[in-house]
Amino acid sequence: MVDVQTSDAVRTKSASLAPLLSVQNLEAWYGESHILHGVDFDVKAGEVVTLLGRNGAGKTTTLKAVMGIIGKRSGSVRFEEREIIRTSSDRIARMGIAFCPEERGIFASLDVRENLLLPPAVRNGGLSLDQIFELFPNLRERLASQGTKLSGGEQQMLAIGRILRTGARFLMLDEPTEGLAPVIIQQIGHTIKRLKNEGFTILLVEQNFRFAATVADRYYIVEHGRIIDGFANAELQSNMDKLHTYLGV
Ligand code: ATP
Repeated sequence: MVDVQTSDAVRTKSASLAPLLSVQNLEAWYGESHILHGVDFDVKAGEVVTLLGRNGAGKTTTLKAVMGIIGKRSGSVRFEEREIIRTSSDRIARMGIAFCPEERGIFASLDVRENLLLPPAVRNGGLSLDQIFELFPNLRERLASQGTKLSGGEQQMLAIGRILRTGARFLMLDEPTEGLAPVIIQQIGHTIKRLKNEGFTILLVEQNFRFAATVADRYYIVEHGRIIDGFANAELQSNMDKLHTYLGV
């Protein structure tokens, strides 16, 4: 006879062990260009996972393919155990996945407040403007400044703040440190750690390996549209030689 209490407990436990995001055999195309050739990886709830790889390896394309903002994709993308490979990008956003693109997407003609309020909240529990300003005090000071007047660091903070307002709990950040001064990179690092402590799950694409090493729990290496290796942060030192070869640094 099945013990109901036990089976409930087992179910609860196995649910909590399932990855938040599970990507299997993901293929993606821009028009006729076949870019991803079977990407496999997963991200557990509460983790910071980083995709590393050379220029053109397919890291950004992987984030876009998860989000459904690419010409064509196939394979399997499961989020919270639901298959989303055929789900539209706006429904994916409403499920609580947010994408912060490398180019940041700040509207030049809008001020900071307008940029922050632009994307619709997709779920309850998004950060209030005050909570965003607590995370990024510079933004409060620049509230009435137009997008064009912001520094690169302020634009990056605005781009991250904006997705936090939507209520998404799974954040995909594409090269958030690109072109930024060391002190701002440090601030972005503190923010990522703080978000992780508050229960957010983060999938990061980074060229800046030194930065990634300060925040990541695990790494995957992307090469020619596939994941060719992966390891935990604790295994970093023993993988350093391989990593230098993969990244050509
Ligand atoms: P990078 O840091 O250079 O952005 P990446 O690993 O993120 O590297 P992707 O941007 O995913 O690389 O690009 C993977 C491949 O897809 C590259 O060969 C790139 O030229 C190609 N590609 C990217 N965007 C498009 C597009 N819109 N149309 C056609 N090909 C594209």
